[in-house]
Amino acid sequence: MDLIVRNARLLGLSSTVDIAVKDGKIAKVSTSIDEKAESEIDARGNLVLPSFVEPHVHLDKALLALVTGEAKSLAEAREKVKQAKTKFTKDDVRKRAESVLQWCLENGVTFVRTHVDVDSIVRTKSLEALLELKTKFKGLLELDIVAFPQEGVVKEDAKELLIHALEQGANVLGGLPEAELTREDGITQIELLFEIAKSKNVDLDVHLDVSPYTNFVEQYVSHVIKQGYQGRATADHLIALSYYSNSYASRVIQLLKQAQVNVVSNPCTSITVGASDPPPIGRGITRVKELLDSGVNVCFGLDNVVDPYNPFGDFDPLRNAWLLSYLGQLNREKDFEALVKMPTYFAARVLRLNGYGLDVGCNADFNVIDAKDLREALRKGAKPKFVVKQGKIILERNTELIWHRSLP
Ligand SMILES: [Zn+2]
Repeated sequence: MDLIVRNARLLGLSSTVDIAVKDGKIAKVSTSIDEKAESEIDARGNLVLPSFVEPHVHLDKALLALVTGEAKSLAEAREKVKQAKTKFTKDDVRKRAESVLQWCLENGVTFVRTHVDVDSIVRTKSLEALLELKTKFKGLLELDIVAFPQEGVVKEDAKELLIHALEQGANVLGGLPEAELTREDGITQIELLFEIAKSKNVDLDVHLDVSPYTNFVEQYVSHVIKQGYQGRATADHLIALSYYSNSYASRVIQLLKQAQVNVVSNPCTSITVGASDPPPIGRGITRVKELLDSGVNVCFGLDNVVDPYNPFGDFDPLRNAWLLSYLGQLNREKDFEALVKMPTYFAARVLRLNGYGLDVGCNADFNVIDAKDLREALRKGAKPKFVVKQGKIILERNTELIWHRSLP
């Protein structure tokens, strides 16, 4: 064997197991493995989880707050980024994105779906920078790239540009219907997105109903069903769903379930951009609890990292799960497993990852977490002690607490 992790605690199991890795795959999971390996980890009864998956971030905007400062509202954040984009160079985007990708690895995040603005201001400059990083980080981190028409599709006449971006290497198509000038144009954008996605055979991942006062979700879902995109479409945010009446919201949730649409909430950023709302100030999240209870695949992303939308953002999935547990009132023991599955198994479904998980035959991409159970992992936002990618240890965290006086 190449690697054996001993005394690992897996989700749902009360006793520990050993995990053996061979040729980058999980070869054996058993209560005790007698064989030896070139490399061994003693997990000491700590949790082992599959690699974390970040399903929604904007790497092209990373660290922009250091230039633009923060914003007081969503509209101001969008305007600040729009102005900043006029000065983007490929080199600048690559440098900013690269420095935060290191934060992903430090937190055991080895799958990332990033949106990248494709519009008349930056054209495909930022996309080209991220494609270079995708190649550079091969073996450490897998990058999924969404061509994102932040400034609109109808308004910008961006159809050909988006097709060009997909031909250049973006592998998912994004959207933002509320970027258009009118509701009718927003609906036209949705139609165009499906037309382009189908012609290029790519999945869709669309920012929807970011403002509480919009409603594009029904149009999106009906196209998913009509165009046969079940399981291949994601709706980001859906904040407005929290503002609908309960009866209407439950109808929408049933539609999402029927259409197998993934939902990605972004609590850490959306609570920030809602700060300028008049009271009562919203929580910036969709109906996560109801979506989970209805069997919709729902997870969370970071969205923004040190830019006008979010002053922080650190790719720490368990800390963000902790935040969502409070904002989404997912605070009972029965909710803990879902909170930990959101940045792992549920987000992996959004990216449609093959060979993901800890079963025999899966790719050996996993983290040994510094916590013995889910409550501890969430309580302290536990970090990985070991990050394993393609069967190899890529990072070990050695933190020791040193008391300078004894406890009473
Ligand atoms: Zn976003």
